[in-house]
Order: sequence, then C-alpha cells, then structure tokens
Amino acid sequence: MPSSTHPIVTLRELQTQLNDGKVSSVELSQDYLARINNSTLNSFISVNSEQALAVAAKQDAIRASGDIAPLNGLPIAHKDIFCIDGWRTTCGSKILENFIAPYTATVVKKLNNAGAVCLGKTNMDEFAMGSSNESSFYGHVINPWSDSTPLVPGGSSGGSAAAVAAGLVPATTGTDTGGSIRQPAAFCNLTGVKPSYGRCSRYGMIAFASSLDQAGPLTHTAYDAALMLNAMTGFDEKDSTSLNTPSEDFCSNIDQPLEGLRVGLPKEFFGDGLDTDVAARITDAIKEYEKLGAKIVEVSLPNAQLALASYYVIAPAEASSNLSRFDGVRYGYRAPEYTDLEDMYIKTRTQGFGAEVKRRIMIGAYALSSGYYDAFYAKAQKIRRLISNDFEKAFKSCDVIMGPTTPTTAFAIGEGKSDPVAMYLNDIYTIPVNLAGLPAASIPAGFSSSGLPIGLQIIAPYLKESKLLNVAHQYQQVSDWHLQTPSSTKTGGQ
Ligand code: GLN
Repeated sequence: MPSSTHPIVTLRELQTQLNDGKVSSVELSQDYLARINNSTLNSFISVNSEQALAVAAKQDAIRASGDIAPLNGLPIAHKDIFCIDGWRTTCGSKILENFIAPYTATVVKKLNNAGAVCLGKTNMDEFAMGSSNESSFYGHVINPWSDSTPLVPGGSSGGSAAAVAAGLVPATTGTDTGGSIRQPAAFCNLTGVKPSYGRCSRYGMIAFASSLDQAGPLTHTAYDAALMLNAMTGFDEKDSTSLNTPSEDFCSNIDQPLEGLRVGLPKEFFGDGLDTDVAARITDAIKEYEKLGAKIVEVSLPNAQLALASYYVIAPAEASSNLSRFDGVRYGYRAPEYTDLEDMYIKTRTQGFGAEVKRRIMIGAYALSSGYYDAFYAKAQKIRRLISNDFEKAFKSCDVIMGPTTPTTAFAIGEGKSDPVAMYLNDIYTIPVNLAGLPAASIPAGFSSSGLPIGLQIIAPYLKESKLLNVAHQYQQVSDWHLQTPSSTKTGGQ
C-alpha cells in the first residue's frame, strides 16, 4: 500500500519559514527529495536531485543578497509534458523514452525566474490522454487516499496530484485539455486551477489538442494557486495564442468578502449519473457559500450534454495532427528493424505509442478525412460555439457557476480500463469549460461515506481568474477539507 503521507505545508507557509530564516531552500529541497525517494506511489518519472540542490543553493545565495523573487527557494515539480533544457521529457510515452529536451517551456522558465526549484518531473497519462494515469508507459500512479484497494489519482496530471497530496512536494504544474488538472485535484483533495485559454504560454508544453490545452497549478490552497499563477501567466510571443493582457496579482483581491455574489447552478450538472455522496457534499458546499452571503440562481447550459461528443471529435482530430511529428526521424524512439521508410514509420509508431494514443489518432484521422469532415469535425466545432454561447448567457445572471468536478470519487486501478467510454464520462462536467476557454477550479469539498475526497468545481467568466481564486479562497477560510491528509481522516488513507 502507499507510502506514508506527510503533514500539509503550503507554499505560503514555506515562504514565511524561508523569510524568517528558519530553513534554507537547500534544506527544504533535501527534505522533499528524501520523501520522493522513499515514496512508492510512482508519482515521478524523473528526479534530478543534483541539479535541484544546485538551483536551491543558488536561490539561497540570491536570498542572502537581498534580491528575493516571489517564489524564491520553493520546491515544486513539473508534469513531464513540459520541456526542460537538458532534462529527459517523456510525456508518459515510450516514443519519448530517451528524449532530452533542447529548450525550456515558457511556464517552466517563468517559474524558474520567480525563484522556484524544480525537483523532478511527474508521471502522467501518455500524451495527456486519460483520466486515471493508467495509460502512462511508466506505470500507474497510486492515489495516496487509497485504503485497502489501490485507487487511481485521476489523470492525466495524476503524478502531479498524487505527489502534492502525499506531501512529496508542496505544488506542481499540470495541464488541462478536458479536465486533467481539475479531475485529479478532485480525486486527491487538492486545489487545481485551469486558467482561461491563452493565459499560460503553450511554448514547450508538448501539444495534445492545441485549441484546448492550458497549463495550471495543483496546490493545497487557492492562495498557493494564486502564487503559482502570478509566476506562470503572461504574454509570450513564442505562442501565437498567448494573450497579451496586462499582468495581474492574483493574490490582491483574494480576501474580498463574498456578500452579494451570485452563484449559478446549472441544472444539467445535477442530473443522472451523479453519485449521491458527491451530490450531497456539493449541496453542503453551496449552503456554506450562502452563509458567506452568496445568492443562488438556477442557470442552464442546454448544450452541455453534447460537450463530450464534441470534445471526442475535436481533441482527437488535433491530436492526430500534432502527433504526426513522432515519426522515428525527428524525435525519440525508432523501431530497431524495418525494411524501408514507410515500414520504419509504421513499426516506430506501432511500437512507440500505447493503445489509447493509437485509438485517438485513428478517431481523429477519421473525423478529419474527406467525406467525414463536415459530418464530424465541422459539426463538433458548431457545438463548441453553442456551448460557449450557453456560458455567456448564463453569466448574464451570475458571477460564477458551481457544480461537481466529477460524477464519482476515485475508482480502483484497473476498473475503468476495459471501457473507454466509461472513462471518458469522468470529464462530463469539466470538458464544457475547456471548449469555452473559461477559467475554472476544483477545490476540496468534503468526503464520501468511504472517506474519499470530493471536489467542487467553480467556473468563472473569461479572464476572471481573480474572482475565481477569491471565491475559492473564501470557502477555504471557513472550511478545513483542504487541510485533511489521508492519514488525518479516520477512513481514508493509511
Ligand atoms: N481525460 C480527458 C482525455 O482523456 C482530458 C485529458 C486532459 O485534460 N489532458 O482527453
């Protein structure tokens, strides 16, 4: 069963400890690296202790000189989808098993510039395709909340979520194309934020579905997520879809009272298929918001039921195009034996990609092929527009939308593997948000009767991350779900 977890310490608390001189970045990094090395959750694909400690020492020296960047000396880890110059970057795939990135992703660079210390790269579903981390070539990750049955941490940022939940690192990066930050956050009792599309640069983040992919943080608290986002966001000329908006301090409005906040509840998010424990905890959380002064309004997202079908055309279509670059010539793995060029392509891709990735490439190539393009791809794009319009209309009568992040709590490893459609249903509440490009978070909202974490999803209008984080933070001032660890609850964990 999982290795023991550690008490929760937030980035904000570590910042104070560093500022007060109670601990150095080298000491902190050594401590977390020891935890990572003793863990059996399989949440990391690579750990680079030597380089991490050298960066930590540099950050300590910078601190001593008085030039203290916002995240100076704080240890973090990156999902293995982000390229880091000189580091192995696998994206959870065999095809990139020995790929050493020749440049650094903008998000990583920005966090480095803010003083963060990267300890390693976290496990993930292959090419970020999945909701359980089981499609990783590097093996499944165990959710630290598992009891006697090993449970999935969610996916695709499963390693990033499990690592934070077990206290192996205080914060990580993830990516969210259809729910891959929010769903693992919900399964592992974390705060996970998907920013508005274009807030974080996609440069150096291996592409899955480019019109949907967004980077974001996985942390214990909304305040920590704001600290991470302050560093991660911002214009980048190397990404043509990067937003050129003025930089914001996401911590500055986080303490605003919620009196008068209008919370929209979409009736479509509370229908069939929603687990009763999840529904009950979400209802409790909404009552808590009412106590904080929020007014509840019913809203409707009539086309949300079409989101999954639309996503599973658009995302595979973009993936089939993005993944054509893995051909055995330019990157990574090449089949050892082949007869001619075409045979080399076929064998390399047959051997290098796992089953889920192949399934997506085939669906995507089919949806884009002549004769089917209008019937599938063009139609999916029209649905995407309708979903976006639904949100726009809903936000005329509310400031934020709330509902469950996932229909169920974490499931057993192996349970969902045989039925891809059942696995896809995990993202039924998260995918509409990606299609509309909106910011959203999942925050801890309590536990099921068997002690498993439940996530509340909060969705804000385009570019209203500041409001999103304020709403999440205020709930965390009056609840302590986010402070629970697997070993601190009676039924969950060890
Ligand atoms: N689970 C979804 C999928 O498999 C979303 C993945 C993601 O957000 N990267 O496509």
